[in-house]
Amino acid sequence: MSQLNKFKISLPLAKNSANWRHWWIYVGLGLALSISISGNLCAADLKFSESEPGEPGVGWQNSPFLKSEIPLITSWGDPNDEEKEPKNLLPPPIDAQYTIAPGDTLRQVLAKFDIGRIETARVIKSLSKTFKPRNLRPGHRLILQIQSPLPPETQKKLVSIDFTADAKTDIAVIRDGRGDFVAQRHNRELGRRLAYGEGIITSSLYQAGTDEGIPARALINMIKVFSFDVDFQRDIQQNDEFALFYERLTDETGTIAEIGPVIFARLKLRRREVKLYRFKLKKGEIDYFDNQGRSVKKFLLSTPTDGARISSGFGRRRHPILGYSKLHKGIDFAAPRGTPVYAAGNGIIEIAKRYGSYGNYVRIRHKNHYKTAYAHLKGFGPGIKSGIRVRQRRVIGYIGSTGRSTGPHLHYEVIYKNRHVNPRGVRIPTGIQLAGKEYKRFKAERKKIDRSMIVLRKKNATDTKIDNY
Ligand SMILES: [Zn+2]
Repeated sequence: MSQLNKFKISLPLAKNSANWRHWWIYVGLGLALSISISGNLCAADLKFSESEPGEPGVGWQNSPFLKSEIPLITSWGDPNDEEKEPKNLLPPPIDAQYTIAPGDTLRQVLAKFDIGRIETARVIKSLSKTFKPRNLRPGHRLILQIQSPLPPETQKKLVSIDFTADAKTDIAVIRDGRGDFVAQRHNRELGRRLAYGEGIITSSLYQAGTDEGIPARALINMIKVFSFDVDFQRDIQQNDEFALFYERLTDETGTIAEIGPVIFARLKLRRREVKLYRFKLKKGEIDYFDNQGRSVKKFLLSTPTDGARISSGFGRRRHPILGYSKLHKGIDFAAPRGTPVYAAGNGIIEIAKRYGSYGNYVRIRHKNHYKTAYAHLKGFGPGIKSGIRVRQRRVIGYIGSTGRSTGPHLHYEVIYKNRHVNPRGVRIPTGIQLAGKEYKRFKAERKKIDRSMIVLRKKNATDTKIDNY
């Protein structure tokens, strides 16, 4: 493949030279030269190799840019010189590959290939129009074509750089017929495919999904969708079932390029079944809704921190410090010091300061006469102070042990019409309930999802598990 490519570039040169008889000699010479040059460069212990032919999406020879109208390179100097003196013919450019390592800059990489500083600056300037070189990340694989000069000149020239920036984008910088650099972007066509998976939970939801061959990204998305409604530590038990319907984006070769959103997720727990559908509201917002068109996003989170365990519930108990029985007006969550604490819902911060035995304390006023309070914090989240508006899940502070406390924990209170209520006991109203036209639209969408899922499920059952959707 790469030979063919060299051929393409050499051909116009030969034509122009009007010296057809010598053409094969030049090609032969060029190939010999390129082989010896690659040999030398490899000896210099650089991190590149001849590009592998036939690998999809990689390499100049496979580049989609080749298919568009790129002027073929016909000269490296004054074209008139060449016509007079065919011996000025250059050897064909060589192919090289370089994988970006941590700390690499494009400037350094090009220097490794003996590309001059001025030329490098021009390449970077041109590339910056479509891709910022500082966004090159370790693992990005550059395919370079480099032109060696004729002696006595020593400065090597760049013919092209070509790389895959992300699953959807190929980038190239190519020297045009006049010696200028042009940067090009090619957006890959990603095909959308729906995928279905289901399984029975033995240890964890994540493990069960992995066992079924469902990609990690899709499982994480599913867990996120459920997280508003399901407490993974307490609710899930052995033999609970799950099903997942999600989007997979594949490139031209059929390889998975990206995992799209969850379209539907189902969790069959011992006592209840959670079914959630993805739905786009008229305003453009996307949310997940249950069968009845209720949003899963809770008005207030019942656990405003991650990975915590309840160390003390709501109600009357013997106070660990004071020693006598007292009403515990909230729930205590034990978690490592410094764990972020989130705003349980949208609202306005009423208090954010040191507050007696509560230690560092935040209280938020929400809609519908609800308030939430957070005590014993180690410190406050960035920008948290009284009077500001916060959205659900904003970090308002960190778990600590300030005030009257025996160890790092979050004391969390929910206050309704100035009375303390059990954050886990009361049915706190949910976010949105679809109604009217919007609900009709949702029902139609739900039907559509259910139908395509039945089709995929059947297909999965007939196909073997190997081609798991
Ligand atoms: Zn407490």
